Amino acid sequence: MGLFDGLFAKSRTVVLHVTSANGFHLRPAAVFTTEAKKFASRIEAETRGKSVDAKNLNALLSLGLEHGDHFDLVCKGKDAEAAIEALTRTFETLMEKESTTPEPPKQESAAYTVQTIPGETLAPGIAVAPLWHYRAKTVQETPHPFSVAAETVLQDLSDADTKEKGIALAQKTLLETLLESVNSLEAMRKAVEEACQTLRGSAMEAKCTDYRDLLRRIESAMGYHTVVDYPDTPFILEADDLLPSEVETLPSSCLGVILHHTSPASHTAILLRAEGIPSLIIADSLPSSDAPVILDASAGVLVPSPAPSDMTQAQKREETIRKRADHAHAKRFEPARTTDGQVIKVLANVTDAASAQEAKEAGAEGIGLLRTEFLFGEKKPDYQTQKETYRAIFDLFDEVTVRTLDVGGDKALPYIDLPEESNPFLGIRGVRLFQSHPDIIEEQLHAIFDAAEGKAVKIMFPMVATPEEFIAAKRFALEVATKYSCCVDNITFGMMVEVPSVLFLMEIFNKEVDFYSIGSNDLNQYLHAVERTHPTLSLDPRSRALFAAIEHCVRHAQKPVSICGELAADEAAIERLVKCGVTTLSVSAKAVANTKERIRHV
Ligand code: PEP
Ligand code: MG
Repeated sequence: MGLFDGLFAKSRTVVLHVTSANGFHLRPAAVFTTEAKKFASRIEAETRGKSVDAKNLNALLSLGLEHGDHFDLVCKGKDAEAAIEALTRTFETLMEKESTTPEPPKQESAAYTVQTIPGETLAPGIAVAPLWHYRAKTVQETPHPFSVAAETVLQDLSDADTKEKGIALAQKTLLETLLESVNSLEAMRKAVEEACQTLRGSAMEAKCTDYRDLLRRIESAMGYHTVVDYPDTPFILEADDLLPSEVETLPSSCLGVILHHTSPASHTAILLRAEGIPSLIIADSLPSSDAPVILDASAGVLVPSPAPSDMTQAQKREETIRKRADHAHAKRFEPARTTDGQVIKVLANVTDAASAQEAKEAGAEGIGLLRTEFLFGEKKPDYQTQKETYRAIFDLFDEVTVRTLDVGGDKALPYIDLPEESNPFLGIRGVRLFQSHPDIIEEQLHAIFDAAEGKAVKIMFPMVATPEEFIAAKRFALEVATKYSCCVDNITFGMMVEVPSVLFLMEIFNKEVDFYSIGSNDLNQYLHAVERTHPTLSLDPRSRALFAAIEHCVRHAQKPVSICGELAADEAAIERLVKCGVTTLSVSAKAVANTKERIRHV
């Protein structure tokens, strides 16, 4: 301090109130201290009898200022007046900015001149084409007579895996009884229909599933399979619901989809967004017509009989959406940097080698979630096929997270016999397959280890609820590595955060896991006890509890945290996710460019 400085030194004090719901946390405090350092004055923050240097970030954070708190800002020095003025302004702006919770994305409004049918958006975008009603037929590829098929099914049920033996034996007895009076597929279909009608509403209604399951087994043993009929010309598909596998095989002439019974969190919806197919849920069935309709999924409406001016408007809106997407696409390989310079990593969620390649071209910086259950598909891939697929993906990126098979709930595979459960989402799925189907998991892990060949690969276990489950799964994986002499030096093990129990056990998990990835889709359903595929109950994809859970996880995790659920690509959620400290988002390949662009505006 100079000789006369003390003489001219001024002291100014102001009381500042923390109005942001997030408190005076890391990000605003960092901006505040940077601003404070511009002044020569000594600047202090005082509260509850404690006084700290307000130019020192850690010291300022040590005050633990939460929403509703206040503190004295004391500036002493010749520029005290200017400092107090500037810092008050900075603080107020920060509080204002922080307290504006991002609004849910307003469905874009579009003024159509004719009547519109409202719906719920599954995937945004606009499509103009005639409606096509879903129609499927069953065809027989390699015919086998009924009697042979019945014998095969009886034998399969006798040979069933020991864990499902009880169910298999019950179904076998049921089939034997049916076969006493049935000797053709037609007779079997009739008998099953009658049995289900009799059981409906009774305490034994659950048995219907066994009857239907038997029918399905017989049909497939006879060589039947389902073929869906689609036109070659552009169309908008209207269906009750679609299977995830059906979304993947939609032809390019399908410009949009309307479903009556699904939910935005279902795997069908996730795939529709991943494919970029504009889609809506509309509860009621729609009248057929050959004339084009407008499916404005961005505005959440269907225009069944558009006027010429509506067509012009739809084209203009399509053009605007396309221009926005083109801009984001042009910058897809550039990093996603927020307005204050923080780089957020944007990875991709993929299902196989082709979608990984697509992710690479879409600007993804790695794979944050390889959902292997889709790679498994209709026929179980053998060890070699799996290894080749994993290797092709590992060759594309330096960072790849492979999730072990997450079958169960709304994801079924024909060759994985899961027991009939009253609540499949609370039953055998995810990491629980390590217990029920160890052979399949062993083969998968063996293929992943061999494909990695010493390269850094992240293995992630789904649906973990307790530290013991994680520890057992990791031990199982390491035993597989030992059995096949695989090198695991560069393999790390992490877990999905999608079961709420995890949030209360983070201290223990922190000691075991190498990384976390938040599965917001399942986490939200389990937080609210609302099935993600429920056709009538709605689940707010941006629920308060979900954000609270994410914030809690990020705050308590001592290992890297990413988000790979649908929320990561939700343009209305990204700002809040970044502000609460999430530094890695994993989204579908189609969403990479837009997600990066959205981050650039945070
Ligand atoms: C999730 O639950 O958010 C998730 C990413 O996993 P999946 O959607 O495959 O269940
Ligand atoms: Mg999940």
